[in-house]
Amino acid sequence: ELPLHTYCLGNKSPEGAQRPCLINGPTGEVYTYAEVDVGARRVASGLNKLGVGKGDVVMVLLPNCPEFVLTFLGASYRGAVTTAANPFFTPAEILKQAKASGAKLVVTMASYYDKVKDIKNENEDMVIVCIDTPVPEGCVHFSAVSGADEREMPEAEIEPDDVVALPYSSGTTGLPKGVMLTHKGLVTSVAQQVDGENPNLHYSQNDVVLCVLPLFHIYSLNSVLLCGLRAGAAVLIMPKFEIGALLALVERHRVSVAPIVPPIVLAIARHPGLDAHDLSSLRVLKSGGAPLGKELEDTVRAKFPNVTLGQGYGMTEAGPVLTMSLAFAKEPFEVKAGACGTVVRNAEMKIVDPETGSSLPRNQPGEICIRGDQIMKGYLNNREATQNTIDKEGWLHTGDIGFVDDDDELFIVDRLKELIKYKGFQVAPAELEALLLTHPKISDAAVVPMKDEAAGEVPVAFVVKSKDSEVTEDEIKQFISKQVVFYKRINRVFFIEAIPKSPSGKILRKDLRAILASGVYQ
Ligand code: ATP
Ligand code: MG
Repeated sequence: ELPLHTYCLGNKSPEGAQRPCLINGPTGEVYTYAEVDVGARRVASGLNKLGVGKGDVVMVLLPNCPEFVLTFLGASYRGAVTTAANPFFTPAEILKQAKASGAKLVVTMASYYDKVKDIKNENEDMVIVCIDTPVPEGCVHFSAVSGADEREMPEAEIEPDDVVALPYSSGTTGLPKGVMLTHKGLVTSVAQQVDGENPNLHYSQNDVVLCVLPLFHIYSLNSVLLCGLRAGAAVLIMPKFEIGALLALVERHRVSVAPIVPPIVLAIARHPGLDAHDLSSLRVLKSGGAPLGKELEDTVRAKFPNVTLGQGYGMTEAGPVLTMSLAFAKEPFEVKAGACGTVVRNAEMKIVDPETGSSLPRNQPGEICIRGDQIMKGYLNNREATQNTIDKEGWLHTGDIGFVDDDDELFIVDRLKELIKYKGFQVAPAELEALLLTHPKISDAAVVPMKDEAAGEVPVAFVVKSKDSEVTEDEIKQFISKQVVFYKRINRVFFIEAIPKSPSGKILRKDLRAILASGVYQ
């Protein structure tokens, strides 16, 4: 059922084609499946007219909006590749991705023009398309793309191994890397989630899926948008996260499925006005992208007894989904707090000793590895990094530490690179962060290593106090000491306004390490 657009849109019955495909949150505007399909073919035709050929790269710099979706699907129809960037990136970061990806055309907004004009300065032939007005000089309005005649769309000969999406990894541990995902890879990944008799994600035509996570991140593009389209659900587009607006949209559009990230789970758990909303339509809350503390998971479960809350585990390079809670497919299913689910269908997972590479038995933590058709073709123009990540036997080494229990469920400990090394012991920041969040006077927390002469490294915490609460460093240190073995004790506590996080929900520990290194906190 390749290529990707055919797989996601081509399976609709005449009745299904008239059902809502996209709902634009801010305006309430609805696009049916038939409209999205025609719209995407028009975009393919328009891109072709603007010089985008097969294999060319289209860059998208937009918040979540229908034009984002039409551009992605249109580029797919054209046989082109979409690379999307975070609109909050600096002009220099955007320029870097534009150059590295070899983008020929950028779809953006007039208000972001200042961010992209350097791209145009460097490359005169670059076409800049704006979805709104006034269109800056030298740019083209989106209607020139979306208003083209779909009958003039050139049929692209698409091979399974052709790249269709070039997302960048989040850059949490290093520089973001361009990840080549192919038609076959993404179709395999979506199929692993929503196809078959007993799919991991049970989406249907009757679902309204909330698309609040940014579409430039693969979690949202794949597991929210593409999975929603394949299943014939309505995808409700929200341009940015704000807890009040989110709850209002859930209520207004009767959202049934909300794929989110831990900071949003936390915002929901801590929101004082939950009762003011009718959230009875919610069936599934799916957390992924970063560790979700057990305690937070239990809190939310208690608040929403009729909602299935579970986790998925993904990584851009893995296409992205590795594991998913069976709770989204099987009912009833006893979810274990902290479990990230079982490996998706038609894929293999193993846990290895990160040093020797040999497989480890159940219940023993080691590096998580995954193999299957869904994983990336490789990093763009970076053979060395690709070879360091995917071994000769096709196993992708994730850099994450976890173990598989007796029921085949994966539990993630933390990232290998972020484990704190206290003498010979290893401390997972995620575990301490989860404990800190159980303190009523702490609204958010992050743990990083600090150099220590005796121990090598010791864990220290950055803490955001709850509103109108007073809590001291000693209180927090004691609170943790009572619950953990000596080497996990928190050595220092630094109070901070907010924990820096990435759009995919990850704590930016490198920013916190930089704050420590700067000597602002002593
Ligand atoms: P970079 O590789 O550029 O440093 P990144 O790894 O943060 O950035 P992503 O591909 O967005 O970029 O994130 C994948 C990572 O997110 C995984 O390797 C894992 O560490 C983390 N992650 C994803 N889902 C979960 C989860 N459910 N629980 C814990 N961690 C998760
Ligand atoms: Mg990574």
